[in-house]
Amino acid sequence: MAGRLDGKVAVITGGCSGIGLGTVELFVAEGAQVVAADIQDEKGAMLEKRFEGRVRYAHCDVTSEDEIKAALDLAKSAFGGLDILFNNAGISDRMGAITEVTADGWNWIFDILVRGPALGMKHAVPLMLERGGGSIINTASIAGLQAGFGPIAYSTAKAGVIHMSRCAAAQLSPQKIRVNAICPGLIATSIFGATLGMPREGADQLAAMVAQNAASAQPVPKAGLPDDIAQAALYLASDASAFVSGIHLVVDGGITVGGRHSW
Ligand code: NAD
Repeated sequence: MAGRLDGKVAVITGGCSGIGLGTVELFVAEGAQVVAADIQDEKGAMLEKRFEGRVRYAHCDVTSEDEIKAALDLAKSAFGGLDILFNNAGISDRMGAITEVTADGWNWIFDILVRGPALGMKHAVPLMLERGGGSIINTASIAGLQAGFGPIAYSTAKAGVIHMSRCAAAQLSPQKIRVNAICPGLIATSIFGATLGMPREGADQLAAMVAQNAASAQPVPKAGLPDDIAQAALYLASDASAFVSGIHLVVDGGITVGGRHSW
């Protein structure tokens, strides 16, 4: 069977870990060539080696416009162009309450989670137009939809990502560039562990914990895994979603439904 991304070139920020890494793996398996853009040089070098000829690593701190542009340009110089941008890099914090967040804290969160994807979209557009269109996917969060799923600055930034994706979709879709957001629920990665004060390597324990507790809070009784989000990104990146632009796709095991199946 032909890969669903045969001949496509993607840039994935935060591609060395968690959701981004799961998406690099899936996109390569579906035939894409991928630039993994991240700040983890050692992991990036390992990825290049593991997927020789299919993956290039770009050191790209998404707070740097120059490094974002360089990562996007690498897609063209290494693989001939750009079709897909997955703005996914992210961090979380533990500044839970409005009274705790410093001015610098607001800037830090917004620079990475909102300004980074904004500049990624800005510089992806000319490259995508050269290919006749493209697909941009921005990782938001269920924290951007409902209170209580993340610290306040993080949640506000993710709400911004959802609306920025809608605005960009309105602007870019006439030029055949679709823009959509994904709202992951609780996914067993290092970020989620960090939010709970768990060590980065706690992801496995976290998966077990989420699976155990799932029945009470999350209707779908399984731990959310990076591949669950990668599959959503694949749908939005591929031609299967040719008529879809401006949505936020919630992939959360039903946790935002809010009910409990107690009957
Ligand atoms: P992760 O920590 O495994 O991956 C995040 C990646 O982003 C890492 O590889 C990290 O090096 C990279 N990164 C961090 N700062 C960066 C920067 N300034 N420039 C470039 N890269 C940077 O965590 P994850 O859960 O895979 O997170 C991916 C995205 O998913 C984030 O945007 C996060 O907010 C979002 N998200 C995660 C969850 C969850 O439960 N895990 C839920 C909702 C949304």
